[in-house]
Amino acid sequence: MYDFPCEHCPGVVRERRLARQAIRHKGSFVILENVPIGVCDQCGARYFHASVLRRAAEIGRGSVSPIRTIAVPIESFVPAS
Ligand SMILES: [Zn+2]
Repeated sequence: MYDFPCEHCPGVVRERRLARQAIRHKGSFVILENVPIGVCDQCGARYFHASVLRRAAEIGRGSVSPIRTIAVPIESFVPAS
């Protein structure tokens, strides 16, 4: 799925399977579990295969129901005085 040259350095992008990865979808996020992403073996740049992005988009637009949904707290950053 990966194993191609990195766009940023002379490294090679290798597959790594992550327990969880948040992926952007139209200003929000979808979390995929057990997802194969590409990681450069030299600079660590991350790549998402088209099939991974397609899966995230299916969930994000609601054409596929997620197995569960979690609530994520949001608050403005206020520096300590
Ligand atoms: Zn690289």
